Amino acid sequence: MVSSLRVLLISDVHGNLEALEACLEASPPFDVAVNLGDVVGYGASPNETVERVREVCRFHVRGNHDRACSGVSGVEGFNPVAAMAANWTHSSLTPENLEWLRSLPHGPISVDGLADVQFVHGSPLDEDEYLIGVADALEPLLGFPVPLTFFGHSHLQGGFSLYRDRGSELHPQIDHGDVCDSSELRLNQRARYLINPGSVGQPRDGDWRAGFAWLDSDARAIQFFRVPYDVEGAKRRILEAQLPERLAMRLSIGR
Ligand code: ZN
Repeated sequence: MVSSLRVLLISDVHGNLEALEACLEASPPFDVAVNLGDVVGYGASPNETVERVREVCRFHVRGNHDRACSGVSGVEGFNPVAAMAANWTHSSLTPENLEWLRSLPHGPISVDGLADVQFVHGSPLDEDEYLIGVADALEPLLGFPVPLTFFGHSHLQGGFSLYRDRGSELHPQIDHGDVCDSSELRLNQRARYLINPGSVGQPRDGDWRAGFAWLDSDARAIQFFRVPYDVEGAKRRILEAQLPERLAMRLSIGR
């Protein structure tokens, strides 16, 4: 990480335009934005979300929902609610947005000007793997000599570090609430990190607010954010689209 870049990191937007707009408004200024996948699926604004993400982010990796909603893969392995949402999304997307989703690369990818950083959806070893606990993170942390990896997929903000062969979980110090809040993580030069910026459009850590992160490569610091958004608006759209009610209700509780 020699150069000085300010990077906005978003992941798992899942067709939630209200949450995405709130994150973009709350973000500090950035030089480049990276999307870690799952732009669509679950939420009721797939086209608007794809178009906004394309406008804002210069780099993208694909997520499993991007694949399923664009027909690159099937919905095998999806629960019935996720499969229903994927089919609805597929039929709602414009041909151009479908084509864009189909063309997304799988990770790991790198970003010009950011050496020693990689970006994936699930894990550097497998784009569909969930990194939930430190036991899941050890193999990719030990196996990839990359100091900093950003990942998504789990919808859990935080991540893991490896220092002196010891793995630890990282939880941003952000209290639940209804206002915008953030927490900083200073990176240790001698540690390795796997960092999840959190889910923009469907957090699953019990906090309903939209999550994202911001990297200052010069200061070697990551800022985690939680941002209130028009959750009632996002829920209304889901119900109006006649998507399963559960997809609306879970947004209020962050599960
Ligand atoms: Zn996801």
